[in-house]
Amino acid sequence: MRRPVIAGNWKMNPATRAEAEALAQAAREAAQGAPSVTTVICPPTIWLADVAREAGDGVEIGAQTMHFEERGAFTGETSPLMLARLATFVIIGHSERRQYDGETDEGVGRKVASAVAHGLRPIAAVGERAGERRAGMTEAVIDRQLRAALAGLHHIAGTGLVIAYEPVWAIGSGDAASGADAQLVAAQIRGILRELDAEGADGIPIQYGGSVTDANAHEFFSRPDIDGALVGGASLKGDAFAAILRAAEAAT
Ligand code: PEP
Repeated sequence: MRRPVIAGNWKMNPATRAEAEALAQAAREAAQGAPSVTTVICPPTIWLADVAREAGDGVEIGAQTMHFEERGAFTGETSPLMLARLATFVIIGHSERRQYDGETDEGVGRKVASAVAHGLRPIAAVGERAGERRAGMTEAVIDRQLRAALAGLHHIAGTGLVIAYEPVWAIGSGDAASGADAQLVAAQIRGILRELDAEGADGIPIQYGGSVTDANAHEFFSRPDIDGALVGGASLKGDAFAAILRAAEAAT
């Protein structure tokens, strides 16, 4: 049985430490209502230590990105050595980083391998853009991104890997994929994972992400290959995040 993983991606929010601590406290309470779910919150790097202090034992801390090198002349970056003291998860290859920060398939692969080597659980994000979907390229894009993301791993069992299927057109748009469409892609992802590691594949949680709310979460959690969600906007609203956690708990 796979344990669902609900991860809140706070992106570049909130603006103050006090607000970050309040969100962490809300997540701490919400996680108590979902004991069968792994609850993760991913604040901006600057709030990691404060949020970790407030979140308590029932909430895991995630970073939103990292560099693949341990140290060096990389202005503005955060090393996996630094993160390993503060976080247990790290989002790698989020589409906003691919779009605005030049993150490449190859770079994503290096980061995933580095995260695993440093004992961090990578949440590797893959997903097609609107134009790629219209052109019928979803399957090819997922295949390329996923294989590149995992290229540096010798095996996937025991790595703590999580895959997030996040269609780019669904992120922040209010236009979520249907549960059936998300399941189709999740099943494709599961198939590739099985090809790469027949024994490890069935233990890997696959999340759906893209405009998940308390109203639509159950649509995804009832699907056989979807094991949780990567949640952006709704993770900044304590009540909505708590309801999403309850929906994941109810589906276990
Ligand atoms: C995300 O940031 O990964 C995301 C899915 O955002 P939202 O839930 O706001 O669409």
